[in-house]
Amino acid sequence: MKEIDWSKLSFGYMPTDYNVRIYNREGKWGELEVSSSETINLHMAATCLHYGQEAFEGLKAFRGKDGKIRIFRLEENAARLQSTCKGILMAELPTERFKEAVLKVVKLNERFIPPYETGASLYIRPLLIGTGAQVGVKPADEYLFVIFVTPVGPYFKGGFSTNPYVITRKYDRAAPHGTGTFKVGGNYAASLRASKEAHDAGYSAEFYLDAKEHKYIDECGAANFFGIKNNTYITPLSSSILPSITNKSLMQLAEDMGLDVERRPIPEEELSTFEEAGACGTAAVISPIQRIDDPENNHSYVISKDGKPGPISTALYNKLRAIQYGDEPDVHNWVTIVE
Ligand SMILES: *Cc1c(COP(=O)(O)O)cnc(C)c1O
Repeated sequence: MKEIDWSKLSFGYMPTDYNVRIYNREGKWGELEVSSSETINLHMAATCLHYGQEAFEGLKAFRGKDGKIRIFRLEENAARLQSTCKGILMAELPTERFKEAVLKVVKLNERFIPPYETGASLYIRPLLIGTGAQVGVKPADEYLFVIFVTPVGPYFKGGFSTNPYVITRKYDRAAPHGTGTFKVGGNYAASLRASKEAHDAGYSAEFYLDAKEHKYIDECGAANFFGIKNNTYITPLSSSILPSITNKSLMQLAEDMGLDVERRPIPEEELSTFEEAGACGTAAVISPIQRIDDPENNHSYVISKDGKPGPISTALYNKLRAIQYGDEPDVHNWVTIVE
């Protein structure tokens, strides 16, 4: 086997030894199957291909200084996948089965979990798709749950740093009563144009306002938003954002650190009042925001005057990473150790 250069890993796909699969037929989930094939044999009329019956998740496994493997909040991911399946009428996978599959695929691919010192981790990608054939618009009668894993590099190669974002009013990611709260592929298809235009213009990601009025903050690309001011952690309350497990964890840690936590609609103008702000999600934990440009109004909300991450964002980032790698005690029971 060729040695992996852990320092060169990015956030991309690298083949690993095994993936795991569970089929749902006649309304029942079958046994867990282990596969070393990277492909899926799929009916051409499968609903995932035509009508978007596709859900996914993203979580990580970390190798600690003690050599142990830790998986972060996997029950939360199981619950969110169930919520997504409810949202687009797919068969729900019980938490126990989700857990069984995650533990199995991580163990089978143990040699791909990067060493502690690298700051890298093993990304775990579960997906659940409608595989039954339909031509009319209907939910499938068969489903497939798959998990593959791939090692990913540390998000901040040059160290924890800030990035610029750009407000988009031309495109919305999800409608107020649409599928924004579900982790479905369709939301990503809807975001690709906005994301490309933002990247082409030199931004880290696009910044969405609420789709109904374009008055309140929704999400930063495929990450949740939070702002900090007056010792308070503030994150949007909206019917079209994805409930981020990272954000949920940061809210708890902020409270533990003695901050107030507010979840409420955040008007766009309030951006000018934040002392710090960040985008949060599994990939980066926190990606601190340098500024948010609003080119249509010839305006720029500068969050970080010196271009550096703020002290509270930095403390939250370090705390969450320390729990994930086992450097600090897991007082909230967020971590599953792979035995
Ligand atoms: C997955 C995702 C997030 C982040 O969720 P985490 O559970 O923190 O990884 C945020 N926004 C969108 C749109 C997402 O799909």
